[in-house]
Amino acid sequence: MVNEVSPDSLRSYITSLVSFGTRSTLSTQTDQKKGIGAARNWVLSKFNQFAANSGGRLSAYIDTTTISKGGRVDKPTLLGNVVAVLKGTDPNDNRIFLISGHLDSRASDVMNAIIDAPGANDDGSGTAAVIECARVMSTRSFPATIIFIAVSGEEQSLLGSGFMAEQAKKENWNLEAVFNNDIMGSNNSNETNIIDNTRVRVFSEAFSPADTGRTIQNIRNLGLENDGRSRQLARYVKEIGERYVDNLEVVMVYRNDRFLRGGDHTPFVQRGFAAVRITEMNENYHHQHQDLRIEKGIQYGDLPEFMDFEYLRKNTAMNLANLASLAKATSMPQQVQVETKNLTNSTTLNWSAPKSGKAKGYYVLMRETTSAVWQKKFFTAETKITLPYSKDNYFFAVQSVNETGNESLPVLPSVAR
Ligand SMILES: [Zn+2]
Repeated sequence: MVNEVSPDSLRSYITSLVSFGTRSTLSTQTDQKKGIGAARNWVLSKFNQFAANSGGRLSAYIDTTTISKGGRVDKPTLLGNVVAVLKGTDPNDNRIFLISGHLDSRASDVMNAIIDAPGANDDGSGTAAVIECARVMSTRSFPATIIFIAVSGEEQSLLGSGFMAEQAKKENWNLEAVFNNDIMGSNNSNETNIIDNTRVRVFSEAFSPADTGRTIQNIRNLGLENDGRSRQLARYVKEIGERYVDNLEVVMVYRNDRFLRGGDHTPFVQRGFAAVRITEMNENYHHQHQDLRIEKGIQYGDLPEFMDFEYLRKNTAMNLANLASLAKATSMPQQVQVETKNLTNSTTLNWSAPKSGKAKGYYVLMRETTSAVWQKKFFTAETKITLPYSKDNYFFAVQSVNETGNESLPVLPSVAR
């Protein structure tokens, strides 16, 4: 699947997206060729085209809500997220994995819904990645469900993702991971003039607002400040992304987002879901949130000519590798515990089998307390292990692994006395 991700497909999607002139959430919804209405119909048509070859597993729709006037919205506006759902094949598996990009674009003035705002990179890149993942993955089947979404209203204050995250929370979705792709297809920076298409960032927040009371106490006592849900996901993204995609380093950034900027993962993080932001390594602010113009010889504006489609291919493939690994894997092991009833120089962990899917066995992961990534792993087909390493000196976690080698997200042990 990684090999099927095509820079030409990605380029063609972005050419189409840019052709709508502006994709401002406040722009026309009745014009057939211009504005957000035409753009979301086009994304829906792509999803429907893939659905036709999916054996009935992929279905697509525009999920709408009316947003009222206020903040960055100057009139009541119909907002539409374009959603494609690749239904899982295992009826006992209710896990959902979600990839998102934002369809809307903006000019210098966020309220200007008329002038051109090509949004090739922000966030044509993320939207193209979502469409390309849907194209490749819809020809395969997975036990778990994958949702591909192009949201609107990001630039108007994360309105579309907030709407989606609220549904996920209300309907109690078993949403295990959210990949928000925003600005991930350009390889160069202004000011510092760095050109690098070999590194991509994954931003993750340490804690979730759901971490209160005993949970936060536990984090303090056990030193788990780098093992929150989103950060654990970021670590997995790095591991799998670098395993499957050549010439790409996934750089973890230990914060939720960049200064002065927000993103569509945040409404999910705020509701307690594991969600990360994937963004290019070096940003060029001449091409973000800028009206098209030339000033002192510099071309401003978010145009396709500033993109690197080979870089976008790698970053898209990195997302795909992660989504596919997670959706193919069995669910996580349950009731993972570390025994602490005695003073020992070894570590004993036990757990029970995953809820859905058949695990061939488990990887017990280990790392020093100061290490950002897992350093050692032990395979066992049992649901208990004793290792000759002190639980005082390392972090441990357990992940399920299936027959084809796909790994679930790791689970940190709770303390059993
Ligand atoms: Zn953006």
